[in-house]
Amino acid sequence: MEILEIQKPLSLKNDGKLEIVFIGVGNAFSENLHNLNLILIKGDKHILVDFGIRGPDGLKTNTGLMNYEIETVLPTHSHSDHIGALELLTLTNRYIGRTVFNKPKLKMIITEEYKSQLWDHSLKGGLACNEVNDFSEYLGFDDYYDVITPEKILKNNKSRHIIEYGDLKLEFFRTNHVPDIAKSSQEAFLSYGLMIDDKVLFSGDTKFDKGLIDEYGRDAEIIYHDCSFLPNPVHASIDELRTLDKSIRDKMLLMHYSDDYEGKDISGFKGLTKEGVRYIFD
Ligand SMILES: [Zn+2]
Repeated sequence: MEILEIQKPLSLKNDGKLEIVFIGVGNAFSENLHNLNLILIKGDKHILVDFGIRGPDGLKTNTGLMNYEIETVLPTHSHSDHIGALELLTLTNRYIGRTVFNKPKLKMIITEEYKSQLWDHSLKGGLACNEVNDFSEYLGFDDYYDVITPEKILKNNKSRHIIEYGDLKLEFFRTNHVPDIAKSSQEAFLSYGLMIDDKVLFSGDTKFDKGLIDEYGRDAEIIYHDCSFLPNPVHASIDELRTLDKSIRDKMLLMHYSDDYEGKDISGFKGLTKEGVRYIFD
């Protein structure tokens, strides 16, 4: 993996290598680190993974791109630091991107089980009533998005979702994030992490989950992992992550951290994930 500077505006196309650009690396309360939002780029395809409330500023500041230039989005779960600006992105696509800049309809990569939850509990209030569609109904999910549905599979007796989008290969796994008392990802509120191209583990928001790291971390070249510097009932803490084998920690970049990260002891890990750089994978 090599790390390159961004020449703004960031190109959403490349020569075919997996490229990951974080436009934010902060936690839900961060004011300076733009929540946790990232762009995957490979060949002529890109995917914006999450767009929290600080996402629009992160996108502009770190990449020089405008909201209307995003063509594909993948939300991991319905917390505002991950989807807080999704309504804005959606409206920008429909009323500026498509009408002024001739952009295609926004594509959303989302599992069937998450789609109705995202619409009914988060997006519908702000998006449904702007117009009526051809059937004289308020707008629905499919009026705003071209939906791309990953395939549900059974792997090691666990339910997973997989998709190939251009040359990007994604495997979705559920995480055990909230509520605090949930003992497994199956008991927890829907939230996802991703295995990207069989070589990059993106934990998403999750409690410390040794089983997850055992399953995906050993084969990963790099692990971007949720990290709280203090004990936390719904996120992995740095002390918990320190209990992992050195071989795992050596390839672990911490993310979803707090604004007061400077001076924190992050020894024993590869480092902190940085926003506003290009991580390129061979
Ligand atoms: Zn969350």
